[in-house]
Amino acid sequence: MDKKQKNNMEYLEKRHEELKSKTYALEDLAFGTIQWRWNVCGNPKCKCKKGEKHGPQPYLAFSSKKEKKMMSIYLPKDEVSEIEKRLENFQNLRDELEELLVLELRERQKKGK
Ligand SMILES: [Zn+2]
Repeated sequence: MDKKQKNNMEYLEKRHEELKSKTYALEDLAFGTIQWRWNVCGNPKCKCKKGEKHGPQPYLAFSSKKEKKMMSIYLPKDEVSEIEKRLENFQNLRDELEELLVLELRERQKKGK
């Protein structure tokens, strides 16, 4: 094994330990997509009834396996950046989980399991 291979292996081992020790709080995660919608309100005399809809207003839309349907949550505008961060965390979690599984697969293949 040359020095480059050894450094690479050390890096992968370190990365493996690092990935295994990661933790996430559910409150830091979200899934789905942010949608901007134009809405009609309940007031029959409102301008929105004539086509001047309210909005765009942000929503977090997601497909619920449990409820078996698309669902959405209205987001106050000042919470949009927080939700974007949570969506990004969820993507990172998925990427890191995949990276961990690939590392473990390679390790098993090396050991011939
Ligand atoms: Zn209206």
